[in-house]
Amino acid sequence: MMSKMGTPPKKIAVIGAGIAGLACARTLVQAGHQVTLFEKSVGVGGRMASCETPFGSFDYGSQYFTVRDKRFEQVLSLAPELRKPWSATAVRVLDPHGRVVEAALPASEPHWVAVPTMDALARHWAQPLLAAGNVELETRVTRIERDALHPEQWQLQTSGPQDSVHVFSGFDAVLLAMPSALAAGLLGQSGIAAGLAQQIAQVDVAPCWSLMLAYPQAVQPTLAHLGPQWNAALSTHHRIAWLARESSKPGRGGVERWTVQASPAWSQEHLLDDAHRVQAKLLKAFGEVTGIHAEPTFAQVHRWRWAKTQAPLGRSHLWDGDAALGVCGDWCLGHRVEDAFISGLELALAVHGD
Ligand SMILES: Cc1cc2nc3c(=O)[nH]c(=O)nc-3n(C[C@H](O)[C@H](O)[C@H](O)COP(=O)(O)OP(=O)(O)OC[C@H]3O[C@@H](n4cnc5c(N)ncnc54)[C@H](O)[C@@H]3O)c2cc1C
Repeated sequence: MMSKMGTPPKKIAVIGAGIAGLACARTLVQAGHQVTLFEKSVGVGGRMASCETPFGSFDYGSQYFTVRDKRFEQVLSLAPELRKPWSATAVRVLDPHGRVVEAALPASEPHWVAVPTMDALARHWAQPLLAAGNVELETRVTRIERDALHPEQWQLQTSGPQDSVHVFSGFDAVLLAMPSALAAGLLGQSGIAAGLAQQIAQVDVAPCWSLMLAYPQAVQPTLAHLGPQWNAALSTHHRIAWLARESSKPGRGGVERWTVQASPAWSQEHLLDDAHRVQAKLLKAFGEVTGIHAEPTFAQVHRWRWAKTQAPLGRSHLWDGDAALGVCGDWCLGHRVEDAFISGLELALAVHGD
């Protein structure tokens, strides 16, 4: 049997069900290959993450996305109901004391949010793969090694719930769609593809502490906002890089909610701090920037160990055709959702064309 466009179909493992892994896996399936997607978490989406609380949802990973590549636009246009523009043109840039120093970000491109929450896009894209039984959730790949019976192929050791251990075998190719440090670690630990691991080592990705806050005492439109009138801000406060009013996003409900992202430098410095201490410090900084000093009814922090690319790889992906191993992820190109999509897509095209 031949895959679409005439290449023999391959059995391919994709590790990581964030945007890059999903774009990669879907493209390969559409080209006729047999794909298994491995994801260590309970759900798909990776850093395009949202959570529900009694006060409404929070996008505690990516806040919005922009679209510059027409291939991304093309895929998004297949499900137009899944995205809405968000008036992040109201973004303000603040000085360390919280004063506005620039009226607005250049309104050069629309800012989009997925609806009802940011993770909806990933869940939608994963649907055909899940329906076909091609996704192994709660399955962390712990080792990549040559297949015991067919050494020209790969097998994966995995760990799942309750430390259950499995081996998945018979893969013609293995593609890693995860943060660079984790990909380098897995390749290094498995003792394979030293060349790939070496190239990945130059990539630098900073952590990010995210703080979620809810103030149900202020519900739009019956009560005025708490604090400022803007909906999102880039900040130069040493603790805070970004703040956004979640409740200003379309279809998110009226309870006043904010997501605050700590700066890369501060997150790195406080990487191993106790979550309660981090929460208290970020809450204080939030009050300084916004003037909101009311006690939040809900507050929670989340630590992203690998959040924002500081130094990208500078290429869309890496593919070693001889070893049949590849890597993709936002960090190949930058730090945006679209970078992850393009990276996954380009890796899939390289694998299919090989
Ligand atoms: C706080 C924050 C704010 C952001 N804000 C924005 C924004 O406003 N706009 C924007 O465009 N981008 C933003 N981003 C970046 C955006 O979220 C990323 O560019 C994009 O989601 C990365 O997708 P990815 O598939 O490359 O990686 P990820 O989303 O990290 O996916 C990797 C996946 O691999 C899985 N995995 C890792 N190791 C293993 C293993 N051993 N076995 C199995 N599975 C594994 C992980 O669980 C994860 O699901 C933000 C990111 C963060 C953290």
